Amino acid sequence: MRIAVLTSGGDSAGMNPAVRAVVKAGITKGCEVYVIREGYEGLVRGNTAPPRPHRKVHRNLPAERLAHFGDDSLLKNLSFGDGPALREGAGDAEEDEQESGTLKGRHIVRVGWDDVRGWMGEGGTFIGSARSAAFRTPEGRLAAAHNLIKEGIDGLVVCGGDGSLTGADRLRAEWPDLVKQLLSSNQITQDQATTYAHLKISGLVGSIDNDMALTDMTIGAPTALHRICEAIDNINSTAASHSRAFVVEVMGRHCGWLALMAGVSAGADYVFIPEQPPKSQPWEEEMCEVIRRHREVGKRKTIVIVAEGAHDRDLNPIKADKVKDVLTEVLKLDTRVTTLGHTQRGGRPVAMDRILPTLQGIDAVNALLEATPDQPSYMIGIHENKILRIPLVDAVKQTQAVAAAIEARDFATAMSLRDPEFEQFYHAFNLTSTLEKGNRLPREKRLRVAILHMGAPAGGMNAATRTAVRYCLSKGHKPVCINNGFKGLLDDNIADVTWLKVDNWTARGGSELGTNRTLPDTDLGGVASKFQQHQFDALFMIGGFEAFSALLILEKARKDYPAFNVPMVHLPATISNNVPLTDFSLGCDTSLNALVDACDAIRQSASASRNRVFVVETQGGQCGYIAAMGALATGAVIVYTPERGINLDTLRADVRFLKARFMLDEKGKSEGRLIVRNEKSSDVYSTELITSIIKEEGGDLFDARSASLGHTLQGGIPSPIDRARAVRLTMMCMEFLEKHAHDLLQHPPHRRRGTRDTAAVITIQGSGIKFVPVEDLVAHADMKKRRAKHTWWEGIKDLSELLGGRTDLVAHKFDINAPHGHEMYQS
Ligand code: ADP
Repeated sequence: MRIAVLTSGGDSAGMNPAVRAVVKAGITKGCEVYVIREGYEGLVRGNTAPPRPHRKVHRNLPAERLAHFGDDSLLKNLSFGDGPALREGAGDAEEDEQESGTLKGRHIVRVGWDDVRGWMGEGGTFIGSARSAAFRTPEGRLAAAHNLIKEGIDGLVVCGGDGSLTGADRLRAEWPDLVKQLLSSNQITQDQATTYAHLKISGLVGSIDNDMALTDMTIGAPTALHRICEAIDNINSTAASHSRAFVVEVMGRHCGWLALMAGVSAGADYVFIPEQPPKSQPWEEEMCEVIRRHREVGKRKTIVIVAEGAHDRDLNPIKADKVKDVLTEVLKLDTRVTTLGHTQRGGRPVAMDRILPTLQGIDAVNALLEATPDQPSYMIGIHENKILRIPLVDAVKQTQAVAAAIEARDFATAMSLRDPEFEQFYHAFNLTSTLEKGNRLPREKRLRVAILHMGAPAGGMNAATRTAVRYCLSKGHKPVCINNGFKGLLDDNIADVTWLKVDNWTARGGSELGTNRTLPDTDLGGVASKFQQHQFDALFMIGGFEAFSALLILEKARKDYPAFNVPMVHLPATISNNVPLTDFSLGCDTSLNALVDACDAIRQSASASRNRVFVVETQGGQCGYIAAMGALATGAVIVYTPERGINLDTLRADVRFLKARFMLDEKGKSEGRLIVRNEKSSDVYSTELITSIIKEEGGDLFDARSASLGHTLQGGIPSPIDRARAVRLTMMCMEFLEKHAHDLLQHPPHRRRGTRDTAAVITIQGSGIKFVPVEDLVAHADMKKRRAKHTWWEGIKDLSELLGGRTDLVAHKFDINAPHGHEMYQS
């Protein structure tokens, strides 16, 4: 197939990784891949100028050697000098000058593997995006169809928002008609009309607002949220210093996702979102009342977040300036407005905006290849951790229905049409951000909830604790926070927590309560007596593999120690992501972002010195998750994990691959390449040894250096995704504890029998969230190696390496020992 990809509508971080994935996946599948510059506008204008003469490429490998490899799709598609350089400033000055003249002439450009090199870490969209009035007209779409057929393109991947995907769907619906018109006006031949009778389309949702229905996340939304939270974290400190109020306006005309999620993850006092305006009309007093209460308990700062499209129940806009006036006049607060504006478009994509578009881009290509004329066009979405194909029409329709419901002031419907997570977050925000006494349960239902951290710190632990504490306070429970894990419990080291004290914990890294690896079986009797002494009715543990082990110990000990017959729940939090059965733990997103930041810097250095391979060592214990995902997110070419291990054969193949790949680079234009190695991949083939081998084998072609990321991977400030995940999962854990406590606590302590499902781990599995009895996890765990027996990300290593250019031919058939093999690059 010949496939083309375009980006349209507002740009978003992650569009470049999406285009990169489509290009690479397409080439891997044997397609010819084109990019369309300037969105639909480029499609309408098409190519009026001839292709630029093929630029002579000076490779490290002579042409006759290159020809020897014949038909491999990677080698045939390494790079095309056609058309303007895709990336501003990518060509030399003389070329650029020529290009600006021809830019208008060529919009549909063939691209190769190396043309998208280095795009993973870049914000915006290199192939350009535009809003096209012409494409909205029948004539425009006719021209677009003509251009596609002229170039022989029969599959199109569109990355854009709901407008762009509506346009895509329209083009496909009208396609047979357009072909007929082109044929009858003799613009195409009968042959062409037959060959291109059907257009195949896949949609990728690129939108910072996360406003598309039927998918959890759009490309660019995580990065936008990241930028907003960074800004609010910074504002927090100045606000507290001066006891000020800040009104922060964020993007989102019809969708309050960014505002709500920023409120949840950065800890705001009040949010205004289009889907759910304040209950009272006028709204001013409702807001002031909440903020007054927060000030009364001693808060020195006030943060109000206003979505761009916020309004009251009569659809009168609520603007940041108006909110500021109210705070100033009614509450007498020194108030400032911050409008984040285009900084939210994001720049460098965060880890999730690299991984998701990559996986979705690959599926978009697969969907094109599998498409049949009678199938609908699919939009590639995601639910929890499952990539889904959703009929494009359905998603667009439901998205438009939200806007219509808001317009009709039917806010309940607007909320219900967003995915269920949205409503959960709204509920979570109200319960954990608003100091309110009205939610308290009757006295007999109130619990004493023990909360503790275990194992190593991980991003999101503190946000989870804050949520648990505030949930408890709101419902009338007593949160008993224990410092320093089970060791702290044995020492009666109980933390003094209040609603106010945990206020800033969402943004804090590390573990505010302190964490410890001591398991309860060091002194089970002692732990049980502490449970009795403090009258715990429930236990909430946040941690990694240790917390899982601890829960298992407590559950098994229930028959001997009745004090453990209370509901107990473990929320996985570990950067290693090694708790069985859960796809994600808290902290792994933060850690991936730390890895991505470090590797971007390392890659820059590797590229600056040309021809350098960096071997980057990551933490992760016996679990290769961070290494494999990190490799995917940074575009590393090789990844070593403990699950696969390293041996002489793999090393030899890897060296051959590196030699082949560097030989194929343009002379003098090699970029650095990354290898990611998990710390426990091999006891013998250490990072240093591998680096030395690569350096030695690289000769004049490349050298090698190593870098160890160590504890930096714990990540400092937790990512908004980890914070939000912490809030949502903790809310569910608290509800779990309440539910089971209600049944268990009806009996006197000595008659309680905790059933197996009352000691559980909360897990994310594919598209669902499940509480799994801790006993059931054992069958899925390798207790010795402290990791899961099977993981959902097993294929990621191969995928990263494939996208790194390791096709079969380059990996295996490239014979570096053939005659002239060595001399060739040395000369
Ligand atoms: P977004 O894709 O971010 O929602 P827009 O709504 O501006 O951004 O849409 C981007 C482009 O998609 C428009 O400029 C137009 O070319 C095309 N488009 C949007 N809606 C339609 C439509 N109903 N019919 C045809 N093309 C459309």
